[in-house]
Amino acid sequence: MERLVMTPGPTQSSEEVRGALSIKNTNTDLDKDFFKLYNDTCKKAKKLVNSKDSKAIIMLGEAILGLESACASFIEEGDRVLCIDNGIFGRGFGEFTDMYGAETIYFRSDYKRGIDVDELEKFIDENGPFKLATLVHCETPTGITNPIEDICPLLNKKGIISIVDAVSSYGGEFISMDEWAIDMLIAGTQKCLSVTAGGTLVFLSNRAVEVLENRKSSVKSFYANLKNWLLVMEN
Ligand SMILES: *Cc1c(COP(=O)(O)O)cnc(C)c1O
Repeated sequence: MERLVMTPGPTQSSEEVRGALSIKNTNTDLDKDFFKLYNDTCKKAKKLVNSKDSKAIIMLGEAILGLESACASFIEEGDRVLCIDNGIFGRGFGEFTDMYGAETIYFRSDYKRGIDVDELEKFIDENGPFKLATLVHCETPTGITNPIEDICPLLNKKGIISIVDAVSSYGGEFISMDEWAIDMLIAGTQKCLSVTAGGTLVFLSNRAVEVLENRKSSVKSFYANLKNWLLVMEN
């Protein structure tokens, strides 16, 4: 019996995707054609976030690896992190930031509507400064989207690095990473792209790369250390 998958993710993968997965593999550590394919795919992935300036990295591991790599790579012990919470994924991000030694401060808002940018600005002015902020574009369980086109420029203006979980919106909603001054955006393969689960895409702005390069303490992870990737990325 054919089963139709109707969850928000993993979604049903197309025949084209399933066909591509059956292509005979080479040794991806050595094959020059693979490097080219990888970098070309990164360049294509950037088109979906309308970015020329950012670096794209495709990692093997579910999208949570993207979220965890953000926390492992950006947070240093005691950093003040603003966790924008108007949904289950938004709140969950705070558990990761805590795990990596941040002092997490929550901006909590109604789970049934997008973030009010004026209220957020007031909160930042009263409770800042923050090194970085975590937020979710589309809160998958409720389906609401947050106005990242207004939130991220505000964060940028306040000198706060923005880390956006766009796992379920990437490929479905319009995103303009460069124009909205987003510093890091995390996407998944198994939602709007309808590729199988197990891949995450992360995009880093130039400013984000600079922050990573200038961190004082070493990153306490190997697999989730984005600095290791930057050494070999060509896009
Ligand atoms: C699905 C989802 C994730 C987690 O993705 P996995 O690939 O299941 O790890 C994170 N954030 C949001 C908003 C999601 O919808």
